[in-house]
Amino acid sequence: MVETHKVESLTELNQKLPELQHRNFRNDDFWKSIPGWANVTREEFADHMWQQKNSIRKIEQVRKVLGKLATPELMADMEDGQRKTPMNIRITPYIFSLIDWENAWDDPLRKQFLPLGSQFLPEHPLHMSDSLSEDEDSPVPMLTHRYPDKVLFLPTTLCPVYCSYCTRSRIIGGSTESVDKSSYGANQKKWDDVFEYLRNSPLVEDVVISGGDSFMLTPAQIKYIGESLLNIPHIRRIRYATKGIAIFPQKITSDHAWFKALCEVNELGRSFGKSVVIHTHFSSPREITKWSQMAMERIFSAGITVRNQAVLQNGVNNDVSDMVLLTRKVGFMNIQPYYVYMHDMVPGCEHFRTTLREGIELEKAVRGTTAGFHTPTFVCDLPGGGGKRHVASYEYYDEENGISVWKAPYVKPGDVFTYVDPIHKLSKEAQDRWQDPATAKKMIEEAKKKVTG
Ligand SMILES: *Cc1c(COP(=O)(O)O)cnc(C)c1O
Ligand code: SF4
Repeated sequence: MVETHKVESLTELNQKLPELQHRNFRNDDFWKSIPGWANVTREEFADHMWQQKNSIRKIEQVRKVLGKLATPELMADMEDGQRKTPMNIRITPYIFSLIDWENAWDDPLRKQFLPLGSQFLPEHPLHMSDSLSEDEDSPVPMLTHRYPDKVLFLPTTLCPVYCSYCTRSRIIGGSTESVDKSSYGANQKKWDDVFEYLRNSPLVEDVVISGGDSFMLTPAQIKYIGESLLNIPHIRRIRYATKGIAIFPQKITSDHAWFKALCEVNELGRSFGKSVVIHTHFSSPREITKWSQMAMERIFSAGITVRNQAVLQNGVNNDVSDMVLLTRKVGFMNIQPYYVYMHDMVPGCEHFRTTLREGIELEKAVRGTTAGFHTPTFVCDLPGGGGKRHVASYEYYDEENGISVWKAPYVKPGDVFTYVDPIHKLSKEAQDRWQDPATAKKMIEEAKKKVTG
């Protein structure tokens, strides 16, 4: 709470200087501009149960709460979006009411959670539902073991919101008109098999608990997973992944049982000399308000480190001023910006992807704007399971055709990987070349040959 005081006393200065914009945290009753929530009080809005109960899960609910803001064109386009997207709808009232509904077509938050049919593009010929080969590198269900000393554990496939750009759309949330999924909820028996595998894997020191989202685990499950992992002697670090702080901060500030469970795992970790942290996922500075800051004050004062992983998205954050503002704002709340990911090559996302060049240019622009330890590394998680690589560390980049070629000497020695830029950002001639499968195949082979000799 001390922090809030300091920030408030700076407000006047912050408003005068554009370079201090990142210190302004929105604190108006913004949800009251949504006709269906015009009478919702601050107390109700602050309650995680209210947020959960009023989360939007169907187009019908969008229409209902928006009232006169739901124009027929917008709603028809959104319905068309539901026929194309691989993700279900789920969105908290918090994020829903931060969308600028008067300007919904361009709104970066609307784009992330409520896609419009007219904004989808044809798939890239090289897209893959499991772009990172997580299933292939899975020794037991719910676990991906690609790197020698760290693993990715997916204890649930449920999330408090569903992102249209999700890299795990093959499993996350329920089935949609375009994808059948084998999603799963919490399952202690299967988790025990994961813990057994980890007990027998002495090289593993680091566990990412992702999914899905840790906000969907009960307090007992947070503790069960945390204690089971911390009790394995060679495991030194665990991270709970949740987009929650970004899209549902009211859970941190009002779900005391959940927060207490997290603190207890953190304290147990500390008593063992091990690290317990949260990895969260803010992608746009527009997601950040006073509510985010209040959630972070609670987490920070409990001594828990939080890092941020953002996904680079066309029309959402692929702009220097947005990326700088996101980095500074996140840093100001004591969250360490960790990664900005190039968008994975998953279905239904061609409109979200950017070129590798854009990633490299954004990295250059962001570096130097704030502390080095608050500067994210821009990475490309290589399609086919090569792991994460710095965006500028490609071996060869044919920018004309949008083909980059990479190596991952430690993770997959000897292998060569390719990442491709979205076709709509290429020249007309290059777009035509991609239309012909034989020409496309030849371009890819030629690019690879530059590296393999
Ligand atoms: C991203 C990832 C990790 C964690 O990697 P860091 O670079 O340490 O954040 C671990 N396993 C898999 C399979 C991953 O994709
Ligand atoms: S919160 Fe993460 S796992 Fe869940 S839908 Fe969004 S991107 Fe996917």
